[in-house]
Amino acid sequence: MTKNAAYYAGRAATLTLRNQCWIDGRFVAASSGSRFETVNPANGAYLTDVARGDATDIDRAVQSGRRAFESGVWSRMTPGARKDVLLRWAQLLRDNLEEFALLDTLDVGKPISDTLNIDVPGAAAILQWHAEATDKIYDEIAPTGGRDLAMIRRVPLGVIGVVVPWNFPLDLAIWKIAPALAVGNSVVLKPAEQSPLSALRLAELAAEAGLPDGVLNVIPGFGQDAGRALGLHPDVDCLAFTGSTEIGKVFQRYAGESNMKQVWPETGGKSPCLVFPDADLDAAAEKAAWGIFFNQGQVCSANSRLLVHHTIAEEMTERLRLKAEALVPGNPLDPATVLGPMATQDHADRVAGFIKAGRADSRLVAGGEQMDLHGSRAYIRPTVFADVPRDAVIAREEIFGPVLAIQTFRDDAEAITLANDTPYGLAASVWTRDVGRIMEVSDRLNVGTVSVNTVDALSPMTPFGGMKQSGFGRDLSLHSFDKYSALKTVWIKY
Ligand code: NAD
Ligand code: MG
Repeated sequence: MTKNAAYYAGRAATLTLRNQCWIDGRFVAASSGSRFETVNPANGAYLTDVARGDATDIDRAVQSGRRAFESGVWSRMTPGARKDVLLRWAQLLRDNLEEFALLDTLDVGKPISDTLNIDVPGAAAILQWHAEATDKIYDEIAPTGGRDLAMIRRVPLGVIGVVVPWNFPLDLAIWKIAPALAVGNSVVLKPAEQSPLSALRLAELAAEAGLPDGVLNVIPGFGQDAGRALGLHPDVDCLAFTGSTEIGKVFQRYAGESNMKQVWPETGGKSPCLVFPDADLDAAAEKAAWGIFFNQGQVCSANSRLLVHHTIAEEMTERLRLKAEALVPGNPLDPATVLGPMATQDHADRVAGFIKAGRADSRLVAGGEQMDLHGSRAYIRPTVFADVPRDAVIAREEIFGPVLAIQTFRDDAEAITLANDTPYGLAASVWTRDVGRIMEVSDRLNVGTVSVNTVDALSPMTPFGGMKQSGFGRDLSLHSFDKYSALKTVWIKY
């Protein structure tokens, strides 16, 4: 059967949408009985009513996680046995590829070709990678000499709170849950209120894979009640957060006001893409367009500022105009669609506000319009602005939409100054063939990842995270385990 939009719409209509809290290995209603609607931004259609968890539900989930942790059913299971469970879970994710792809596509409007080819396989690969590492992390013995044995042991922390946004609902949850569980912790996850569906199904599959009850709990709900309760909970040992810088700071306050839990914020960005005159301009234009338009620009590390040498500014601007105009938003259930709606109508309106601000002080080169489609106004045409002043709102604020700001520089020093002129420091791309320039520029960019002659290089093997107000702590790679474990010294005199 051809897998076209009609096929995916048909499959979507038959899905059972999980919409309760997942506590202690089963679905339960929110204790208040309260619910909230989740909506498909592609057509404004109601999807389901989801349990609206609050402080009481968070407390039940934390208690369940704590009980599981203290029982040792997971925390003291051998790493090899934990690995087997996590590997089965990754396989189940692959076995249910279409269902998970549809859940995130319905919830936030991602094109089905992205969720099928990028989001779900990526989540499974990252889960598998962390699973495989589970029994390959060794403790240390200090070289004390004498009749002493000083062991430096890596121990799990206990109960980890995880709060994630809606732009990669499945993936960002896995980025944190996988290493947290691998080292033996329990987890309480609060997905974003815009995108609770995939997380709830994911929890159910964990049980099927053999994860003991209580080790993973999922409480859907809003930031100001469920999120806040998790941040303030006195029995949560660590809070891993991905979201805005504003709320990252709020979580640091929660920790200070409660039990001094560790807080690991992965927050916003305004990442630059620097193009020098010796670069391969075809490749640079291709990737720069992808870097801002992929996932409708709703990517924390989106290359939202294109900094080009003044001698190639006109040419690069024209190339980006052509790329932007070739991308027309469409029905996310159609496998030919590469750009869907924004994740919510509210967010689309917010992005439209930034475009309005850009029209006031910059030159509109492409796009600039909100579009109606299938009864929804959540679609935004890929937008490019040139001649963007240094202090323009669209050059400074994170838009989190398909809006590119082009600025020019005259020499390497000015390129570096412009690139670093932001409160953020998540990522940057550099396009040049000059090895000396690659080293000099990448040394001086104050960001967590520098991608050279590509954009947004990412793999489970390399750490991802920011400098400055893009947060700290690293997801992915073996370093991700550092966030979810503590070093304990056990010193034996004999
Ligand atoms: P957000 O900060 O508003 O929300 C993120 C999460 O925090 C949601 O689950 C939300 O319910 C919760 N939350 C909101 N207010 C809260 C409060 N007062 N107390 C407790 N919890 C609260 O972010 P968003 O708008 O949903 O997502 C977009 C942001 O996420 C962007 O800034 C983007 O850069 C960032 N992001 C960062 C990364 C990264 O790895 N650095 C990755 C993806 C997205
Ligand atoms: Mg939705």
